[in-house]
Amino acid sequence: MKGNWEIAGVSVKPGSKLQEYIKVDGTDEFMPVTFINGENEGKTVLITSGIHGGEYEGIHAAIEIAESMQPDDISGQVMIIHPVSVSTFRAREENITPADGKNLNRVFPPDKDGTLTDKIAWTLWDKFMSKADFHIDMHGCFSDWITPHVYYTGVCDEDVCAQAKAAAELINVPYMVKSVATTGAYNYGGMQGIPGILIERGHSNLLSDADVRLYKRDVKNVLCHLGLLKGDAEQPIIRPVDVVDLTYVNTNVKEPACWHPKIRINNEFLKGDVIGEVRDFFGNVLETTYAEFDGIALYMMGMMPIEPGGFEICYAKVK
Ligand SMILES: [Zn+2]
Repeated sequence: MKGNWEIAGVSVKPGSKLQEYIKVDGTDEFMPVTFINGENEGKTVLITSGIHGGEYEGIHAAIEIAESMQPDDISGQVMIIHPVSVSTFRAREENITPADGKNLNRVFPPDKDGTLTDKIAWTLWDKFMSKADFHIDMHGCFSDWITPHVYYTGVCDEDVCAQAKAAAELINVPYMVKSVATTGAYNYGGMQGIPGILIERGHSNLLSDADVRLYKRDVKNVLCHLGLLKGDAEQPIIRPVDVVDLTYVNTNVKEPACWHPKIRINNEFLKGDVIGEVRDFFGNVLETTYAEFDGIALYMMGMMPIEPGGFEICYAKVK
């Protein structure tokens, strides 16, 4: 007989679901969390949204998954956080915690004695990630346009990377990336032996139901693949292909100016194509950005104001 699931200071009986606010250690902050404990044994999966509090489709999808998923549906344990950073969400910021100006997905490994963002990271790791067999992290963009894509843990043991990649292949997006980063939540999890994926879908505060539906389908697919949900994973409508050589371009212009993109997301472009221009407030072109190789935009600035040294685009090469 399966016992209670002791997790994050709560006890969840087999065949039951619990929705609780879990305190961020050493602060007055909380995270809204749904715990679902199936009757039968199985893996433990962590689903996070709102590590960046202004990436709404992932948060919306996580809330709906938490609402609809029932203990009878699963073998194993699922924990869903919606969102991880409540203060960033409330501030209508994309990814900066107002209290300390830090980006939660850049502070791993976590420092439990640091400022609020560090404490959120620590709590996320200590209470949730470290107890999981797999981590699904849902993101998106706020001020950038995005071509939907998925990252899988890459700085980790080969076996961990292979498990993450097998899940990434089930995500309904055109592109996937083997991550080389180490400072994000799922990256750190990978380094500690927990495979994970980060999905990028939804942008520009569109609050798109179509994106939410696709997100829910992605999560369902991964949970089927991991044996938590009954049935086989649905074959993706599109299969992601690997992209490499991620290239991040920032403007060299040293004054506040205007960004005029010349390409769009979801479109391929050729070496030498104009990606965009930075113009002054009188329309004079200060800088033109050209593609260094044939590629696709993973995400790019989707707002007109651009600050000195500001971000223009991240693009990549189809492998
Ligand atoms: Zn994000």
